[in-house]
Amino acid sequence: MTMVTTSGMSASDSPRRVAVTFVNHAGAVLVKVVPGTRFAAAAQLGVGFSPVSDAWRIDGLPDDGHPLAVPDGDLRLVADAAALRPLEPAEGWFWAPGDRRHRDGSPYAADQRSFCRARRDALAAEGMTLTAGFEIEWLVAEPGPLGEAMPALAGGPYGADRLMEGLDYAGALLDALDTAGLPWLQFHPEYGAAQFELSLAPGDPIEAADRLVLARLLIQRVTRRFGWRASFSPLPEAVRVGNGGHVHLSLSRRGVPLLQGGDGPGGLPPAGEGLLGALLEALPALLPIGCPLAVSYRRLAPSRWSAPFQVWGVENREAALRLVPAAADGVDAHLELKTADLGANPYLLLGALQALVQEGLRQPRPLPEPVRGDPAQLPRPAQRLPLDLAAASAAFAASLPLRQAMGPLLHDTLVAGQQAEVRRAAALDPEELIASCRWLPLTG
Ligand code: GLU
Ligand code: MG
Repeated sequence: MTMVTTSGMSASDSPRRVAVTFVNHAGAVLVKVVPGTRFAAAAQLGVGFSPVSDAWRIDGLPDDGHPLAVPDGDLRLVADAAALRPLEPAEGWFWAPGDRRHRDGSPYAADQRSFCRARRDALAAEGMTLTAGFEIEWLVAEPGPLGEAMPALAGGPYGADRLMEGLDYAGALLDALDTAGLPWLQFHPEYGAAQFELSLAPGDPIEAADRLVLARLLIQRVTRRFGWRASFSPLPEAVRVGNGGHVHLSLSRRGVPLLQGGDGPGGLPPAGEGLLGALLEALPALLPIGCPLAVSYRRLAPSRWSAPFQVWGVENREAALRLVPAAADGVDAHLELKTADLGANPYLLLGALQALVQEGLRQPRPLPEPVRGDPAQLPRPAQRLPLDLAAASAAFAASLPLRQAMGPLLHDTLVAGQQAEVRRAAALDPEELIASCRWLPLTG
């Protein structure tokens, strides 16, 4: 008889093969698999990965104009043994995220996960802690005769009928999360047809990004087991609501929460107000990190709760920054960045957010009044965020705090990737653009 542990694994479920992943500049999760017997070496020395993979576009093709589109060089993807988790343990499959390093073990300056960790450490050196958690929305679909995404499950928005239609699917998915030891807070049928949402438990920024990567892999796997496809595309079909990848952030300095306990709007203390003001100003520069695809900007339309306005609000779901005040259940006040979608590389997004938090604490900015109601209906129209990737990329390219935090190699190569995506999209009409990302994360 085998012992069953609290994570649902049995003692015989030891790693026989480990999928080691990183997320490239385009937001694709890339992988090398090692046998369990070689995992210790992968965690110490790493496995080879060419830097060219950051020159790939979302469709997997290299962009010839990208500075990393060269055949030279090699990096080592070093698995993080502490983050090893079961993927499909009964079959011996495990997963671990990795950091890319040079062959001599020194850090690679354009590595996304290392950037996120460096920003975490920089905040910690100032006594700051940022805790983050992602929400994942996805469409469960089958390809129709013209390749369109046909909802695979009936049932209404937030409908218990949809849960019942898909109860076997929901159970299999939540089992997979529990088996992987991946803590989740909530699961529900979302507003759109056959759209679902999963809220992941908050954790430190690396943990939060790792959880998003693993959760998406598990959602993809379980959905395929049912013969369907999961689409995480920001907009799988023009006529449907999009998929967000909202991120929640709470902040504390030396253990004292920064977004509550004051007399400002929503209970903000002065430091929280100054920080929120600075984050609000920086939103255009952050946008191409949270919304990196040309199709992302087709999701960012008014009145779809994708929050395309450069405003903040208390519990306002059309505001790009939504303050959720501290609640009776003891949960700290937190901010929800509603614009972000699942095209984003979560390590870059949380790294950039941490860099902007650090800058905002150093250089607080005045906070405008919170917006109440629909920002599209105000007597003086609210400021829209950049309307396309080209405009957002220009704001990112001009951001000194992000350039300083990222360093020139990471910053320059991200700008090059954004420009490559702008060029890719320019050759497509709107329908072709949506179709080209419809089955995200499947490319090609
Ligand atoms: N599906 C919406 C989006 O694109 C979000 C709906 C919600 O508020 O959860 O972001
Ligand atoms: Mg939602």
